[in-house]
Order: sequence, then C-alpha cells, then structure tokens
Amino acid sequence: MPAEEQETLSDTLKRQVLAKLEQLGRKAWQQQWIDFLAIPQQLRSSVRQPITPLEQREYVLRYLLLRALLDQQASADGARLLAKRLYEEFSNQLLTEPWEISLIKILEVYHKVNQKVKESDGRPIFRVGLLGAIKPISIFGYRFLAFTGFIKFLEENKQLIYNLILRKAKQPRDAHRYLSTHPILEIGWVGRDPKACRMYVDWLAYLMTEVWHEPVRYTMKDTLMLVNGHVAKVFARTGLLSKVIYEKRRPYIVQAQQLRRSIEQLIQQTDLVPFYVDFGTYVLAQTYCAEKEPKCSVCPLALECKKYKKWTAYEQSAK
Ligand code: SF4
Repeated sequence: MPAEEQETLSDTLKRQVLAKLEQLGRKAWQQQWIDFLAIPQQLRSSVRQPITPLEQREYVLRYLLLRALLDQQASADGARLLAKRLYEEFSNQLLTEPWEISLIKILEVYHKVNQKVKESDGRPIFRVGLLGAIKPISIFGYRFLAFTGFIKFLEENKQLIYNLILRKAKQPRDAHRYLSTHPILEIGWVGRDPKACRMYVDWLAYLMTEVWHEPVRYTMKDTLMLVNGHVAKVFARTGLLSKVIYEKRRPYIVQAQQLRRSIEQLIQQTDLVPFYVDFGTYVLAQTYCAEKEPKCSVCPLALECKKYKKWTAYEQSAK
C-alpha cells in the first residue's frame, strides 16, 4: 500500500478549513436531511415533530436501519429509491414483521427499482466490485436477511431500537459497537468497522438530539466521522493530513479506511461536530473536488488548499 508524506497546512489554516467544512455540512444537512434519508411520505410527519409517539419514532428508526444496510456497495440514488419503494409497497409490515412478506414480492420491488436505476444510470443498484462471482441480487438478499432477522430478534425480545439507543448506548460509539457486532446485523454490514453503521448511528443522534429532543447523554459533538473515499480525498488534497495512503491496485485512489483514525484524531482536537464536518466534506467533494478536473477556482477551500496552490504554481512555471 503506497504511503506518501506531504506538507501540511499550518494549525491555523487547518482549523479554518475544518470550520468551513463543518459550516458547509451543517447548512447542507439542515436543508437536505429528509430527502437525503429518503423518508417516505407516510413517515415524514413522524420525523418532523418533537412529540411524535414512540411507535412512530420506532418505525422511523427501523426504516433508517434498512436504508443504511441497503446503502452499502450501492449507488446512492438507487439505495434511496429501493428503501422508499419497499416501504411504499409494504408499509409498516416491512418494519414489524418483514418475514411475513412473500420474498417473491420483495424481489419484484427490487427488480423494478433495479431496472429503473439501470435505465437512468447504466448500472445496477448494487456494485459487486472485486467480488466478481457474486450477483447484485445476492448483495440485496443478505442485506435484507440481516434486517429481517434483526427485526425478528427485536420483536421476540419485546425490544425497540429506540430503547436500545436511549437506555443502553451512553454514546454514539457504544451504539455503533452494539449494532456493528450484533450477531444478526453483522450479516449485513460491510467491513470490520462498517461505515454504514457509523452513518446510521449519526442519523439516530441527529434525530434524538436535534429533532425529537430526547434526554440522551450525548450531543452532536459525540457523533462519528464516516470517512468515505471522497472525504479522505479532500483531507489529503487540502493538506489536512501529513501522510496519505493510496490503494495498491489504483495508486491514485486514497485509502479511506486507513486514514480514518488520523482524520478522527484531527477532529477530536477541535470543538467541531464530526458528522457535519464529514457531510460538508462529502458535499464539497461532490460539488467541486471531483477525482478528475476539480473545480478549484470556484471551490470554497481554494484560498487554503495545498493541492490547488501546487497545481497553480506548476501551471505558472509551465507558461
Ligand atoms: S481547491 Fe481544488 S483540490 Fe482543493 S479541495 Fe477544492 S476542488 Fe479540491
């Protein structure tokens, strides 16, 4: 795995960049969260009201669990559409007794959405990547199996995700530990420290603290960084990190998982909200910092970004 040492920004500029990313993320999240989470119409009133009945809140939390499981190795739009269509088709039965729904009917929804995504995107919802022999439908199958099994576990034990989070998880990190290592849910997560589980825990933290104002023992400051490839790329390019690790097979792609720890440590030294910094970085990468031909001249980080300064100096010396 090729590692590269690089010059970093000064501490003052690092703080400035991180604060800009947090601000960008906070604003974008507050504007987009209902659409980003793909909350179906029937559940929308439940997520907006601080006094939503417990049962309704539990539906939202279960729906978001499915949404997070489906988000892995999937196109973002495809995963959103699939979760939403499944709920629209089967309503609350999907969230209380999914094992009672005919698998054929579940797969019909999957195939319809998959076809739609293929028509608009040219690729299926699930991307198998290096797992050559596995079929996209199998990826969907085991994600759905994990969800169904976990709901059955909750129902058999008369448990609610809501209570697990409220009573047992003192911090989002505890909730992540519990959910990511749960023997049933483990079937559906990707990786040893599943990013989708971190994302789910942060969504719950947002709902609990900012929307429902529950008496939880944490704040948004305790959320977790997700650090996907886009986020790691921006941290590397701007000069927030002194050491960048690239993939062996594709040495131009930053290894997000290997950099997660150093990125988390950097945020821990600030009083910023990790989830907003992460979301802001994701938004910035989507809008400006593309893999090829980034829009540096209009990027909000252009003043500070090391990479941009390096590229500009190179262009000027080449003239
Ligand atoms: S200035 Fe360019 S390289 Fe730097 S973060 Fe912005 S888009 Fe990316």
